[in-house]
Amino acid sequence: MTDLSKYTTLGTGGPARELALPGSVAEVEEILRRGEPVATIGLGSNLLVADAGVEAIVLKLGGELASVQVDGELVRAGGGAANAVVLHRARAAGLGGFEFACAIPGTIGGGIWMNGGAYGGEFSQVLVRALVATADGTGWLTPNELGLSYRHSNLEHGQVVLQAELRLQRRLPDEIKATVRELNAQRKAAQPTNRRTFGSVFKNPEHELSAGRMLEACGLKGHRIGGAQISPKHANFIENAGGAKTADALALMAEARRRAREQYGVELVHEVELLGPIQVT
Ligand SMILES: Cc1cc2nc3c(=O)[nH]c(=O)nc-3n(C[C@H](O)[C@H](O)[C@H](O)COP(=O)(O)OP(=O)(O)OC[C@H]3O[C@@H](n4cnc5c(N)ncnc54)[C@H](O)[C@@H]3O)c2cc1C
Repeated sequence: MTDLSKYTTLGTGGPARELALPGSVAEVEEILRRGEPVATIGLGSNLLVADAGVEAIVLKLGGELASVQVDGELVRAGGGAANAVVLHRARAAGLGGFEFACAIPGTIGGGIWMNGGAYGGEFSQVLVRALVATADGTGWLTPNELGLSYRHSNLEHGQVVLQAELRLQRRLPDEIKATVRELNAQRKAAQPTNRRTFGSVFKNPEHELSAGRMLEACGLKGHRIGGAQISPKHANFIENAGGAKTADALALMAEARRRAREQYGVELVHEVELLGPIQVT
């Protein structure tokens, strides 16, 4: 039994029934053929894992499934490749269009899973197709077939993003560097970048207030339950303030949803992904 807390950026979560570290397509296909429940994790930067653990084989992709190759204006990246590595390789090759991902501390697979995005860019804008494995076989899917929309895809556990092809455009490396510096500065000014968090807790509602502004107006900045607290810097972030459990984060989310419902009549929908037996109330 391997504890997953060290694989999530919040640093919470119980054990996986089994943790597998496949490094090739064939290894993933072999695991899927066992016919047992499978879930894949990236950098755990958008993930709450149940304290009770996960009754599944949890995959963490490595080896060729985390590698990056540049071919003309096409970048081929493994599902387990970190966005930061892909961005670095693209910049070195003089390819722009992936700068938005400097703000997203995850992998290509995690980015496709939730059509990650920031500063007007998102995965659906650069993704040509993704190689996805299931127990029934492996094949390429287009953004349409993946059902990419605002922070959403139709992917389900048991579908493993093995590789992606991204179409980028020629851009000078110095210009890319300048854009990334500017976006990182904006990010640092507005969000808790040096704390253990899992990014935005809730999707922005259809309302004049963003989720963060709404929860701030509900007086939740700095609100603490157990070892988790709503960030004093940005109310749509939950920080591990020391010894947090997933249950603490979930209790904060329930309180946030209750207050948004009572004060604004808004049902906040969580953006963070849940793994294991978890219920959001
Ligand atoms: C400080 C901070 C800032 C953030 N800012 C942003 C932001 O601006 N925009 C944004 O969109 N997100 C943001 N996030 C959230 C997060 O970084 C993204 O959602 C990211 O895309 C998650 O990638 P991951 O590899 O960490 O996925 P994980 O968190 O490990 O997993 C997320 C989901 O993807 C699935 N998954 C992961 N890899 C695969 C794969 N290879 N195949 C199939 N399924 C897979 C998992 O099962 C899970 O359901 C932020 C997070 C943090 C901590």
